[in-house]
Amino acid sequence: MARLSLTARGEARVRAGHPWVYRADVARLEGPWEPGEAVSVADPAGRVLGRGFYNPRPQIACRLLTWHDEAVDRAFFRRRLETAWRFRQSLAYDGDAGRVVFSEGDRFPGLILDRYGDLLVLQALTLGTEAHAPALAELAAEIVGARAVYRRADPTAGAIEGLRGASGWLTGEAELEVEIREGPCRFRVALAEGQKTGFYLDQRENRAAVAALAAGREVLDAFCYTGAFGAWALRHGAVRVLAIDASAEASARARQHAAANGGVERFEVEESNAFDALRELDRAGRRFDLVILDPPSFTRRKTAVEAAVRGYKEINLRGLRCLRPGGVLATFSCSHHVPGALFEEVCRAAAADAGRAVRVRAALTQARDHPVLLAVPETRYLKGLLLEVIE
Ligand code: SAH
Repeated sequence: MARLSLTARGEARVRAGHPWVYRADVARLEGPWEPGEAVSVADPAGRVLGRGFYNPRPQIACRLLTWHDEAVDRAFFRRRLETAWRFRQSLAYDGDAGRVVFSEGDRFPGLILDRYGDLLVLQALTLGTEAHAPALAELAAEIVGARAVYRRADPTAGAIEGLRGASGWLTGEAELEVEIREGPCRFRVALAEGQKTGFYLDQRENRAAVAALAAGREVLDAFCYTGAFGAWALRHGAVRVLAIDASAEASARARQHAAANGGVERFEVEESNAFDALRELDRAGRRFDLVILDPPSFTRRKTAVEAAVRGYKEINLRGLRCLRPGGVLATFSCSHHVPGALFEEVCRAAAADAGRAVRVRAALTQARDHPVLLAVPETRYLKGLLLEVIE
């Protein structure tokens, strides 16, 4: 096996428990290697610190899987997957869908595994995990008790890592649309076409937290995707839900989900740009008691943070203006490059411009099955605030 020697800077990061080795952290690479294979990672003095998959193409050339000098083989994969599954079971979720492996958060960089009923969706985000995808699928199906595992290709990671694999069944074969249960709600998930791996599993606890405030309230669910927040709100007694999404496919599914969860007569969906829709609702004097803003990541790059901040400011300003006194804004950011403190600052500025005094009812984060690894700040990406307009 090849040995990668770190620079002092690379060593410090790895010793602190962070799995990433940037190209600039590589002092030497000795011995025969192939892109995507595991290499041993050593400090400048030659002491082995762990092992990880190596790929010279991306900025992050190596991601450590282990801090021991142990084989990265089938038995290793089994241990990692079993640990991840045991953690999910300890969460005692009410439902049959959730994330089983969250990449770095489960000390399995490059691997995403989501469960939808008795099916699994696998995303390989590095060359190393792609190379082992069939074995990982087989093991995961056995451990979780899944009928089939679908590989969902990720074009972004594909371009960065030089991945070759396409979407398709890795183990078994099944229908590409599946019904899942999340708490009191049922949703249909399109494994091949939906966003992410089909569903925003990371908002699970937040849907419950928001729905707990929905009884007797008029709700606006902006950036609704397939309407999961709205369906939860209807289940919990919302008077009306107006949902907005730019995607026709998502809007159609949102309507189906309102019907499937028993509230279609209290539900309306508008297929439009939420920026325009929010401005028009505000200008027209439409008011709500609960406004949900769950936009896509406005920036995937550090350099675009300013534009993202303008976007967040705009929608939060409009959202707050559309609230009746005593109303609640549930606002989210999944932009990795917008940290919690900056998001709060944006909301503060929006509240000031809207002339609203707001109280923080709760600070929210990603679902517990997307665990944050303390040593890896990048694993924390979803931030949310429940802001109550004080009368
Ligand atoms: N709240 C959803 C997830 C939202 S994901 C859930 O719990 O399932 C973000 C959504 O915003 C996507 O469905 C995307 O289609 C939509 N979107 C992106 N840009 C938009 C825009 N400018 N106006 C309206 N919707 C937009």
